[in-house]
Amino acid sequence: MCHPHRTASTAIPPEPGTVARRRRPVVDLISSAMITSTAAVVSAQIVAGEIFVAIRRIVKYGDPVLGTPTRQVINIDDDIRTLVQDMVATMYAAPGVGLAANQVGVSLRVAVIDVTAGQEKGNLIVLINPQVIEQEGKQIEEEGCLSIPGFTEFLARPARAVIRALDLEGREFTLEGHELLARAFCHETDHLDGRLFIDRLGGIKRQMITKKVRKAADADEWSDVYP
Ligand SMILES: [Zn+2]
Repeated sequence: MCHPHRTASTAIPPEPGTVARRRRPVVDLISSAMITSTAAVVSAQIVAGEIFVAIRRIVKYGDPVLGTPTRQVINIDDDIRTLVQDMVATMYAAPGVGLAANQVGVSLRVAVIDVTAGQEKGNLIVLINPQVIEQEGKQIEEEGCLSIPGFTEFLARPARAVIRALDLEGREFTLEGHELLARAFCHETDHLDGRLFIDRLGGIKRQMITKKVRKAADADEWSDVYP
């Protein structure tokens, strides 16, 4: 997913005497050592026995798979379980707070979210065939996306959202999210519907981003951000 930024309540204030900086995205917050160990722990929770986890390539803005609505999962089989394991490892390695399956090139309605980006255990949410079934209120925060690295914008989202999905055992559940979690529910289900956060920006802001991406792509500097 998405790496929406920390909310104002958790942002670290600038040190006295220094110039106030833009808030740093979650993507900058975790050391690679932490990511590796967290990803391994999460995978161990998903599958007993031997663990093979692959960090997959995250596709970038410009790849048609991101603009295509994903297909519902019919059977939760070993392929889906492997996909989820890999998506979790890929999200933590990025690091990000959410990832949709089409961001790793698989056009299926699957997403993973962890609003702590693996910093605290017990926050991983696996969503099979998710739908946002309720939303209310409004929050305006900075939002970014692992498929559009280097760009963030303030974007209005519901302050509260309820999602309905299946877990890896095929059991239906609903979950209520506020603030960053509500934002992540909306960002990831948007991905699964073939929509990016920049599609929700005003024309000028969106054009500025797409222009810069095109320039980077022309200079061959776009596809290599996540090797
Ligand atoms: Zn995203």
